[in-house]
Amino acid sequence: MRKPLMAGNWKMNKTVSESVSIIKALKGAVGGVSDVEILICPAFTALYEVNNEIKGSNINLGAQNLFWEAKGAFTGEISTAMIRDAGCSYVIVGHSERRQYFGETDKTVNKKTKAALAADITPIVCVGETLKERENNVTFSVIEKQVRDGLADITLQQASLTVIAYEPVWAIGTGKTATPDQAQEVHSFIRKIYAQMYKESAEKVRILYGGSVNPGNVSDLMKKSDIDGGLVGGASLEAESFTKLVKYS
Ligand code: PGA
Repeated sequence: MRKPLMAGNWKMNKTVSESVSIIKALKGAVGGVSDVEILICPAFTALYEVNNEIKGSNINLGAQNLFWEAKGAFTGEISTAMIRDAGCSYVIVGHSERRQYFGETDKTVNKKTKAALAADITPIVCVGETLKERENNVTFSVIEKQVRDGLADITLQQASLTVIAYEPVWAIGTGKTATPDQAQEVHSFIRKIYAQMYKESAEKVRILYGGSVNPGNVSDLMKKSDIDGGLVGGASLEAESFTKLVKYS
């Protein structure tokens, strides 16, 4: 019922020409895939050219961030209208790197989530505990707060369309993946909280796992009933490995 989504988050990697060349390779390699939705989130500077390259293909485009105001004196920020204009149908919101280095909070995550939804851009809202929080056995309360506060006050219809990414901070870029059971435990918890907030939308919302997903672990993760796809950093930077993730089954 939920179509799997495999999303590549390129973070602060790749110039425009590097982005276009990987997209060219990827387009050829994943051309026949229709049972998995494919998404690439390049740097802002590459969005426009990548969008030209993916026209008519099965690859979707997303941004890695946005600002909630419509326009004006906000030096360095990018609005929903701007990322839409550049071809984005998705945007990553509240990635742990943004929480850690740029002071994003559940409150700003909520503003960004609402701004994206109001502009018909699907937000991928990231949640996840740090290693310290896991060791202190507060994983579930941390996740619950991030979900309740970050996703507060959206409509039921918007709740179904939103995507959530569970990314344990200790697994991002470290080569340490959560085991499929560890991930499933948190994913089903997130769906339970979501059901309390948005009733039947919980069955429709896609919950991605992120944190050192690679061609070797993807199929075991994807076998879990509440894991609906991946948000992938390192392994999305080359067409060959990302293709393996898209074709995980
Ligand atoms: P990683 O990054 O796959 O390199 O661990 C995932 C992410 O941060 O979205």
